[in-house]
Amino acid sequence: MFRKQPLLVSTVLLKSTEKLLHSFSRRNVSKRNYLSRMYLLPPSKLRDTGLTSKSQNLFLHNEILFPCHNGAFYYLPLGLRALEKLTRLIDEELQSIGAQKISMPTMVTAALWKKTGRWGTDELFKLKDRHLTEYCLGPTHEELVTSLVAQFERLSYKRFPLMLYQITRKFRDEMQPKFGLLRGREFEMKDLYTFDLDEETARETYSLVCDTYHTIFHRLQLNYMKVEGATGNIGGKMSHEYHLPASIGEDSLFICDKCGFGSNIELIDEQNQSEDVACPQCQSAMKIQTGIEVGHAFLLGTKYSEVLNAKVTNKEGKRITTEMGCYGLGVSRILQAGVEVLHDGESIRWPRLIAPYQVAILPQKSQDSGPFLKLSDELYDRLCSLPSLRHDVVIDDRVDRTIGWRKNQLNRQGFPYIIVVGKKCQEDPAQYELIDTYSGTTDFLSLDQLIDTLSMLHTL
Ligand SMILES: [Zn+2]
Repeated sequence: MFRKQPLLVSTVLLKSTEKLLHSFSRRNVSKRNYLSRMYLLPPSKLRDTGLTSKSQNLFLHNEILFPCHNGAFYYLPLGLRALEKLTRLIDEELQSIGAQKISMPTMVTAALWKKTGRWGTDELFKLKDRHLTEYCLGPTHEELVTSLVAQFERLSYKRFPLMLYQITRKFRDEMQPKFGLLRGREFEMKDLYTFDLDEETARETYSLVCDTYHTIFHRLQLNYMKVEGATGNIGGKMSHEYHLPASIGEDSLFICDKCGFGSNIELIDEQNQSEDVACPQCQSAMKIQTGIEVGHAFLLGTKYSEVLNAKVTNKEGKRITTEMGCYGLGVSRILQAGVEVLHDGESIRWPRLIAPYQVAILPQKSQDSGPFLKLSDELYDRLCSLPSLRHDVVIDDRVDRTIGWRKNQLNRQGFPYIIVVGKKCQEDPAQYELIDTYSGTTDFLSLDQLIDTLSMLHTL
């Protein structure tokens, strides 16, 4: 009697699977990624709002973003995939140094911001609930995270350094949003907060996070400039900014080519800012360079932990105030700034690791495209069986369009690899045309060679 039970279960399972498969085919839903089914909006519907940058135009004209209201955008499927990959890369690197991911509320009570004296800050989106309690949409979360750590009364020194971060949507009421994701009113930000026992260990944590930022930009193949920055509204003892060099950058930086020292021009106030500023480290003349700020690090000291009472019991059993650091990365800003520095004029060039998809399969247009579509499906399944490419392949099955039109489109959208499935694939031996769009090279490869080449790709 009991033996029959599992059989019964498996029959039920089988039936439900059949039903699922049936509904898949009936509703024309497939597990393969076909571009014909992806929600891509034709660029003709775009309106030019002025205040635009090259990367923003490339995003708007190539189905990455779609404009919504002032300073806000829809991420279309390709754009969101790139953003999620970037998020994954940052998660990997931060978690490799022991940072723990949390998520804090978007709405922050005014009471906390009043305590730290920041409620008067411009650019806060303020709101009230039905009980007339005041909130703001969080642009940054020092107050919330510090008050979270303060709740933990028995917090032991053994847990230190304590590193908590989140990657969430942040808000800022910009006077004049511009350049797309570079200066929007909503943006994705990674904010990391660190807690240490004393200033010395807090400085060690500071260099650890800076090293991690280096790794992140290195993996993205983005050259960056790290410069001394002002502590401004956040406050604290020391700060560095991370910039990508670009002509549309809104920050002016003094950079010393000789020793690598850099500083935001804001810090060189009293001296002559326009020319002949000597490097404070090696006395060489520094040059001025504009940059897009993509990251920031602050050694905060006890500014927040003191007010919000974040204490820890040290080795000697004494209650002491924690030493804090906070570290931001503009995730959506890096997404667009990366393209601002890498694009080739006509086409999006992503940092390769975060391209929405690594490979697009392109079946030929023909009187009867059936055989090319079938070969493409088979190639798709084969590529997706490679662990590195499992989620990174699409088929551009819009065979009513010429191959030239689609190739051009995929190139402009920044697909790093295009495989053309054409007449040569029907020959014996079959030949696949592999185009590396970023280097502009083309190779004709057998199926095995093709698989070998693509199995070596680094993906996220
Ligand atoms: Zn120097």
